[in-house]
Amino acid sequence: MPFTELQNDLNERAAQGLLRQRRTLDGPQAPHIVVDGKPYLSFCSNDYLGLANHPRLIAALQQGTRQWGVGAGAAHLVSGHSAAHHQLEQALAAFVNKPAALLFSTGYMANLGTVQALVGKGDTVFADKLNHASLNDAMLLSRAEAKRYRHNDIAQLAALLEQTKTGRKLVITDAVFSMDGDLAPLPELLALCEQHDAWLLVDDAHGFGVLGEQGRGSLFNFKSPLPPFDKGGVSTRAPVSPPFSRRGAGGDLNSPRIIYMATLGKAAGVFGAFVAAEQTVTDTLINHARSYVYTTATPPALSSAVLESLDLIGQGDALREHLRKLIVQLRNGLAGLPWKLMQSDTAIQPLLVGDNQQALELSAKLRERGIWVAAIRPPTVPQGTARLRITLSAAHSAADVARLIEALHELAQ
Ligand code: PMP
Repeated sequence: MPFTELQNDLNERAAQGLLRQRRTLDGPQAPHIVVDGKPYLSFCSNDYLGLANHPRLIAALQQGTRQWGVGAGAAHLVSGHSAAHHQLEQALAAFVNKPAALLFSTGYMANLGTVQALVGKGDTVFADKLNHASLNDAMLLSRAEAKRYRHNDIAQLAALLEQTKTGRKLVITDAVFSMDGDLAPLPELLALCEQHDAWLLVDDAHGFGVLGEQGRGSLFNFKSPLPPFDKGGVSTRAPVSPPFSRRGAGGDLNSPRIIYMATLGKAAGVFGAFVAAEQTVTDTLINHARSYVYTTATPPALSSAVLESLDLIGQGDALREHLRKLIVQLRNGLAGLPWKLMQSDTAIQPLLVGDNQQALELSAKLRERGIWVAAIRPPTVPQGTARLRITLSAAHSAADVARLIEALHELAQ
């Protein structure tokens, strides 16, 4: 039995400061948590609006289980697709102003299924080098040719598109880069896609709920205002068609060639993901996306909770404003440290350390002070760019952020 080989690999990882281990939360996700019996102030969840333990979501989930039970019992295409799923899909489509939306169990599965359903042998996928692992895996699984461009390098992408003469073309990008916090230049990417007749798959795992008008996500971060979101009428209302365009740069972000993916386990505080696009695209996914077809539908009560979350997100301007202030406070407070705070305006604020062991040590020293910030190491980030991925949440207070700033300044001494 090759146990020795496995153990050698684990030992090797440990020696390089790359061994992954889990820590166990003793309660719900929140800024102040108990981990393995000790209290911590946490800066490493993606619960950007602090909804993961919101009383209204808890009540909606309880009500949902009373109405729908627990398990979906089957895949969506068999007998697992409930009215709760259906209503949520319509609400999500309206919320992001797309004709249709399709729920997936996770963002990982949404990316795998979408790319694999849209392209295959003879086609080409163009991917930002800093894309999330699920987009990378999706690209490999699709069997299309993979062309990766330097992070946000529009000129290189243009050259790659130019060279590609045959087959379908699909550009895939994080909207907010998960380990960097910076944004993809969506209007410019779309303009290139228009020019080369390519699709643009936007993964907005970290923008949905946080960015854009009423938290509608990254596509709304670049455009003029929309009418207010009204949950009551959402399932029947026709999608609005606002005049998109961003200071003259790039294309119309309402474009049918954009396929929008967002997750529901981060700012939305629940679980799952959806793809919003033209009806032909979602129908194609229903028929061809293997991670959709061959898996059990999520518990319908989760859809009840997400529907409630959508309402909170739509009305969450005060939360987003508080989060924005915390981001400014953190960035101002961390100026002058020996570690570089990477350029980011989002809730993801990575502090670049470089060396794996040093990143782990810094994380451990913060932990000794009762502060939890995860060290992110290769292969999640490129070699030599290990970092503390600080994430802020609207549930943090200014005093919480001040405590982190003070601790990092002390450790820098
Ligand atoms: N895309 C991005 C950019 C992500 O950060 C993540 C989650 N870390 C995913 C997709 C996968 O989403 P999920 O956790 O729902 O599988």
